[in-house]
Amino acid sequence: MNAATSSAPALELQDVFKVYKEGPIETVALRGVSMRVEPGEYVALCGPSGCGKSTLLNLVAGIALATAGRVRVCGAEVGGQTETERALMRRSVGLVFQSDNLFPRLTVLENVQLPARLTGRGDAAKLAAAAIENVGVGSLGGRYPAQLSGGERQRVAIAAAIALAPTVLLADEVTGELDSRTGQVVLDLLTRLNRETGLTIVAVTHNPAAAASAHRVVNMRNGAIRELELAG
Ligand code: ADP
Repeated sequence: MNAATSSAPALELQDVFKVYKEGPIETVALRGVSMRVEPGEYVALCGPSGCGKSTLLNLVAGIALATAGRVRVCGAEVGGQTETERALMRRSVGLVFQSDNLFPRLTVLENVQLPARLTGRGDAAKLAAAAIENVGVGSLGGRYPAQLSGGERQRVAIAAAIALAPTVLLADEVTGELDSRTGQVVLDLLTRLNRETGLTIVAVTHNPAAAASAHRVVNMRNGAIRELELAG
């Protein structure tokens, strides 16, 4: 068993393989990926469609399990056997997708409160109010997702993802459906959260502006990490 420690990397993958099996068809999505992300880093994960970026995020988020290799978040193994490890992992990771992050029949505040309510927190309302204020949509708490712009929806999704103060935020093409100006507002928000709160961010992106916001770019090709580049 792994005891999580504060000195552990925020994320660590060791020789990770992921094979999807659909009947007789096997797709090797990740073939021996190793990477390490330190607390407070902002990493852009780039590469052509189908190279395994979303699979990597899904393994870190515990949405899918690795076929082989180890995935650790804050020192705790994802898919580890104990409930304590699974609970630690869920609290440690926030996730935002390109779209459809919000429940359409819930208000902004209700959406952002949901993660805290699901973990039984009594202070969900307070946490949600602070999170929407933090992302600059504090006045929109009573609206429904359909009453928001695309950029506002993504900011609310980020608020929901950070409401429980995770160590790592996983962002999968979060500006993919936004025009460049609105996308930049969302990127600036991620940069500010990283700088001000030390939030570790791993952002999948095709967008050069998004990659430029990161400290480091990790390039993937065909299920493997191709190279590491240190930004400026
Ligand atoms: P990317 O995010 O870089 O576009 P993905 O991680 O989505 O890449 O996909 C990597 C490979 O795994 C692709 O060949 C894709 O078709 C395949 N794949 C992804 N998810 C599944 C799944 N649930 N079942 C079967 N194959 C999948």
